Amino acid sequence: MQIFKFGGASVKDASGVKNLAEIVSSFDSQKLVIVVSAMGKTTNKLEELVKHAHGGEDYTNTLNELKDYHRAIASELLGETPTRYLEFEMLLEQTLESLSNHEPMLAYDMVVPFGELMSTSIIDAYLNKSTKCVWFDARSVIRTDQYFTEANVDWVVTEKQIINDLKPVVEESIVITQGFIGSDVEGNSTTLGREGSDYTGAILAYCLNAEGFTVWKDVPGILNADPRILEGAEQYEKLSYREVTEMTYYGAQVIHPKTLKPLAQKSIPLIVRSFLDKGRLGTTIATDNTTKMIPCFVFKGNQLLVTAQVKDHSFMDEKKLGLILQVLDLLNIKINLMQNSALTFSFCIDNKEFKSKRIKELLNRDFILSFESPLNLATIKNYTPDAFNKLPWNRTVIMEQKTSNNYQVLYR
Ligand code: ASP
Ligand code: MG
Repeated sequence: MQIFKFGGASVKDASGVKNLAEIVSSFDSQKLVIVVSAMGKTTNKLEELVKHAHGGEDYTNTLNELKDYHRAIASELLGETPTRYLEFEMLLEQTLESLSNHEPMLAYDMVVPFGELMSTSIIDAYLNKSTKCVWFDARSVIRTDQYFTEANVDWVVTEKQIINDLKPVVEESIVITQGFIGSDVEGNSTTLGREGSDYTGAILAYCLNAEGFTVWKDVPGILNADPRILEGAEQYEKLSYREVTEMTYYGAQVIHPKTLKPLAQKSIPLIVRSFLDKGRLGTTIATDNTTKMIPCFVFKGNQLLVTAQVKDHSFMDEKKLGLILQVLDLLNIKINLMQNSALTFSFCIDNKEFKSKRIKELLNRDFILSFESPLNLATIKNYTPDAFNKLPWNRTVIMEQKTSNNYQVLYR
């Protein structure tokens, strides 16, 4: 059994869906679960829609744009609009009407899953023109907690449900289902965090003991740098789970960070390959793929450097460091780089205004705080002497760190 995941870019228009169908038909002798995201930039549009509807503003235009976009794709593919799609459209409209009565995070999860539900309804109808394929509601098996917008998977219930309810269907037919969405114990829809469809694929692969999980992307595989930022990016043929986990930690946007762990636990290979160049094999991520590593470059923009300085002339000791880290943990903030000195502790984080406001509120009493943004953070994993020449030349270095494998620099 294989799990395939297609992201929004791969199904952004009718020709994308046709291409997906071609890929699926060349694998249809195997048991296959196809996980699909919302079409194109639909999730962003739905986020806009939630904002308007929840705030009691007029959302008609946004809703109509969303409907027109999906209907145009359906009409080009099928000459009509599939019934299941229309049902979801109606349900979406009803949901929007009473949205402002709900908590913002819950409201988000009531609306945003429609992207995946609508895309899979259209794609399912198209696939069924040539292949027997069953549409499956991922929410009926992926059980999560009620941490709406970033829900955590309840693995025990999810595994049981997948084995009982999804596995028998996969034995009989190709299955198409949604990435990114689940439901809580009360039956509310939930989402797993932006770009969470990769994670859904890994959950299914784990619970179904799949032989492989393939993510079809618009890049030929995993590259050692973002080609839009660095010229001459090279592709990895093989990588280990550990290496990719580390890359995502430093901010490389290769795969959703939660994807690796379930796959590694069962040694299920992850293949990242191109839906544009179907003949190319891409990158395989598996256990012990220890080839000599070429350096990997990760660039993160819009960084905020926070410096906390003690108020008296006591040291920035472990107790004070502990206090700061506790606050960051409470606010769910990930540190991208940190350094301490006698009287200060400096840390670099993604620059989000509401988070820096909270940092101020919680740490102002004990420390003198200073903030600098926007800064850039570059990381070179597995650096070589040559690799440093590829970093931007005209940078002003704010903070730097070097270990035996990795180099990080925060610059202006
Ligand atoms: N559609 C969701 C998003 O755009 C989930 C995903 O694409 O993986 O974030
Ligand atoms: Mg997406």
